[in-house]
Amino acid sequence: MATTPHPRVRFAPSPTGKLHVGGARTAVFNWAFARATGGVFVLRIEDTDPERSTAENEQVILRAMRWLGLDWDEGPEVGGGYGPYRQSERFDRYDELVERLLAEGKAYYCFCTPEQLEADREAARARKDPFQGYQRTCRSIDPAEAKARAEAGEPCVVRLKVPEDRGDVLVHDIIHGDVTFNAAELDDFVIRRTDGSPTYNFCVVADDSAMAITHVIRGDDHLSNTPRQVLVYEALGLEPPLFAHVPMICGPDGKKLSKRHGATSVEEWRDEGYDPEAFVNYLALLGWSLDGETTMVSRATLAKEFSLDRISKNPAVFDTKKLQWLNAEYLKAMGDEEFAREVLEPQLTAAGLAEAGCVDANPAWWSLLAEILKPRTKLAPDVVGLSRFLFGEGVEIDEKARAKALGKEGAAAALEAAEAALLPLERFTGDEIDAALEPLPDELGQSKRVFYQAIRAAETGSLASPPLGASMELLGKGRSLKRLEAALELASA
Ligand code: GLU
Repeated sequence: MATTPHPRVRFAPSPTGKLHVGGARTAVFNWAFARATGGVFVLRIEDTDPERSTAENEQVILRAMRWLGLDWDEGPEVGGGYGPYRQSERFDRYDELVERLLAEGKAYYCFCTPEQLEADREAARARKDPFQGYQRTCRSIDPAEAKARAEAGEPCVVRLKVPEDRGDVLVHDIIHGDVTFNAAELDDFVIRRTDGSPTYNFCVVADDSAMAITHVIRGDDHLSNTPRQVLVYEALGLEPPLFAHVPMICGPDGKKLSKRHGATSVEEWRDEGYDPEAFVNYLALLGWSLDGETTMVSRATLAKEFSLDRISKNPAVFDTKKLQWLNAEYLKAMGDEEFAREVLEPQLTAAGLAEAGCVDANPAWWSLLAEILKPRTKLAPDVVGLSRFLFGEGVEIDEKARAKALGKEGAAAALEAAEAALLPLERFTGDEIDAALEPLPDELGQSKRVFYQAIRAAETGSLASPPLGASMELLGKGRSLKRLEAALELASA
C-alpha cells in the first residue's frame, strides 16, 4: 500500500457522454470513503480519446457531481498539488514514462502491421495454441535498430514486455478477495499506439501513482484490466494501490442497467424532480449498506459511516419504485419551510403559477401548503398538479367531477348549505371550516360522500384533492364562497 497517511481516492470519468447511474454510484462510494476516512477525493478527467471526449461533456459531469453534492478536493476547477487533472494535459508525463520503460528494456517497439497480427492470430487458432495473444515477434529486434526505425518514422506501437517468468497475476481485491489471472492470457499489450497516444491501462497507472492514489474504487467491469495495470506498476517499480471493484448495477430483469430500463443519466433523474440527497442515498444503497436494514442514510451519515467492508460483491438491482419511495420519504422529512423553499417555490415558479396572482401568499400560507402537500408528493413536480386549483379566481371543473359530483341529486342543496354555514365564519381556517361543514350532511339527510364530493368539486375542480378545509383556507373566504356560487349554476337541484 502507498504510504500516504490518509487515503487518496479518485473518480475518473471519461467525458464521452453524460454521467450515468453506474458512474455516479462509483463517485458516491469514492467520495463517501474519502470523507469517512479523512482522506482526499480526487476528480480526474480521462479524456485521452479526442474523438469522443468533449469539454461540454466534462461540464455536464461536473454539473451532475455538484448537483449530487459530491465535492472534490482536487481536480478540474479546484486545482490541487497533483495536477493537471485532465489526462489530455498529461501526455508529456506518459511519454516520459514510456521512454523510460523503453530505455530500461521493459517495453519495446512493435512494427507488426494489423494484417500480420491477424495472420498470427489465425495461425495460433489453427494450431490450437493455448496462447492466442501477441506472439512477441518484435521482442527480438535489436533495441537500437528498433529505435532508429521508429525515429525514421516507421509506424509502430510500444508494447510492455511481460516478464516470461512472471506467472499468474494475483489481484487482491477488497471486495472480491484474491482473483488470479492466467499469465498465458496476458500478452505484451500496447501501452502507446501508432499515433503516439497512450492506452488506458497505461495512463491510469501513470496517473494513479503520480497522484498517490491509495485505493482504486471502481466498477467491476474494470476488474479484468487490473492484472495488466499490476504489470505496469511492476515494470515501473511501483507498489500498486489497493483495489475495490464494486458490483455491477442491473435492471429488474437482471441485465446490466441500460437505456432499456429507463432514465440512465443523472441529469434525467434530476429533471424528473428527484431530490439530490435522496438520489445519493439510493445510489449508496446499490451494493452497500449501513447495517443491512437502515434505508435512509443521509449524505452526512455516509460521510461518517461509509466503509468498504460493507460493499457486497453481488450485482445490485436498480429499482425505480424504491428510489421513488425513498424520494417521497425525504420530502416528508423536510420541515414545512424547507419544503416551501426547496420544492414549492421553484416548482410553482417554473410552472408559472406562483405569479398567477389571486393568492395572498405570505410565509404562513406557504407553510400550510407545504404541510398538506408533503405527504402527497412523490416527486417535486407533483406539487404543480396538486396545487394548480389554488391559483386563479375560479376553477375549471373537470368532466368527471361535473358528472359524478355536481350531477348528483342534492348537489345544489349541499352547495347552498355550505355557503350559508361558511358565510358567518370570522376565522376562515381549516379547522373552523371543517367544523362548520361537519353537521351539514346529516342536516340535509345526505351521505357524507355526496355532500363532500359536491363541495370538493366546486372548490378544487376535481374529485381528489388535498384536505378540503385546509384547501379552502388557502383559497381564502372570498374565493371559496365564489366557487360555491359558480358551481351552483352547474349543479343539479
Ligand atoms: N475512465 C474510466 C471509465 O470511465 C475509469 C477508469 C478507472 O476508474 O480506472 O470507465
